[in-house]
Amino acid sequence: MPAPMPAPAPMPMPTPASQALLTVLLVEDNPADARLVQLMLADAHVPRFALVPVDRLTIAVETLVSGRQIDAILLDLGLPDGQGLANVTRLRGVAPRVPIIIMSGNDDEAVAVAGVRDGAQDYLVKGRIEADGLTRALRYAIERQEVETRLAAALETQQEANRQLARLSKAKSDFVSIVGHEFRTPLTGILGFSEIMRDEELSPAEVRDYAGDINADAGRLIRMITEMLDLDRMEAGQVTLRREMVDLRALVTEVAALARRTAPRHAILLALDDAVPPLLGDRDKLVQVVTNLVSNAIKYSAGGTITIGAAGYATSVDGVDGGDGGDGGGVHLSVCDEGVGIAPEALDTVFERYARIESAATRYIAGTGLGLPIVRQLVALHGGRVWAESVPGQGSTFHVDIPAPAPETDTAPETATAPPPAFVE
Ligand code: ADP
Repeated sequence: MPAPMPAPAPMPMPTPASQALLTVLLVEDNPADARLVQLMLADAHVPRFALVPVDRLTIAVETLVSGRQIDAILLDLGLPDGQGLANVTRLRGVAPRVPIIIMSGNDDEAVAVAGVRDGAQDYLVKGRIEADGLTRALRYAIERQEVETRLAAALETQQEANRQLARLSKAKSDFVSIVGHEFRTPLTGILGFSEIMRDEELSPAEVRDYAGDINADAGRLIRMITEMLDLDRMEAGQVTLRREMVDLRALVTEVAALARRTAPRHAILLALDDAVPPLLGDRDKLVQVVTNLVSNAIKYSAGGTITIGAAGYATSVDGVDGGDGGDGGGVHLSVCDEGVGIAPEALDTVFERYARIESAATRYIAGTGLGLPIVRQLVALHGGRVWAESVPGQGSTFHVDIPAPAPETDTAPETATAPPPAFVE
């Protein structure tokens, strides 16, 4: 199910030109010219203009970056600290949405055209400006800028919609390809085994065997579908946590006991610190995180040792706080195997949807490429992060940091009916 289309990022609203008082930044070093502009604008009634006169480009820049409301700029091109059209570029750089009207002593058509091309709204020649013309030029410049801003906002909305369509289209082809590849295998099994049961004389023991195979394949299918739907709901922000105090040591011990039953070729060891702080989290979802990681550790190693570690940390490994905005303390979980490993360039991509690393070692290992994205989403819901380290051919370690206590967020119980995670070999 595709994620709903996100609302477009809000664009800053332009100042309505009809508003009663418009603030004009007058960048002019000649006091006589500045006074003239002041007099011309003084008589305007609707709108009225408030002038902010400055005599240096640097002061104009400071004024604009200070966040003060400026509706338009009247800009002289010959300033002590800035000459020519570079002045326009400089101010556009810091205030791209504020309309600029050039005031120049130079009646040069080429400069005027170049100025407009550089982003100025108008070009007025000093000595030829009169009050009506100036107020009209200001009003029109502000109106034009508003239209441009609205057009830019519409364009951005359109582009975001296009990006979303591209994402949906990719999700659709990913879905089709995963159905093609991964669903086919268990379905072929179900078809084959059921045909044998239908067409051949079988002993009760054989029937049980085939029914068991069909059951396992059907279980695999349902898990894949559940994972897909779960991930979609998480990515759409529809999953919330049912928080309680969780003892990670006990949780890890339980998951390890279950894992041992399905992985007779592996030695599953625990390395649990005495001082693992209690976590405020969703127990079932944390079980799913550990189960997915241990399940992978089993799947992607032919045997050997798998070590599940849990420890408290004061600040996360890279010194960045764990996302709780507090002192950075929390719980560190690790799952270390001696398996096929992951190439350095794939260490980040394995957390993306349907990312499966094709190699001779993994070719025959079944999977959907959804286990790790689910882990990442669940960890993120807890305000934490997950990452991997690996030496190809020697093994991998997956690390999870979860801040404790977890950040206060929505604690409404979630309504998912997902079955508990299971180990799959
Ligand atoms: P799946 O295992 O179903 O393919 P995951 O999202 O759990 O999907 O993992 C994505 C990919 O990351 C796997 O296909 C595999 O290539 C790689 N991977 C995950 N865990 C391990 C691990 N412990 N050792 C080696 N590779 C791993």
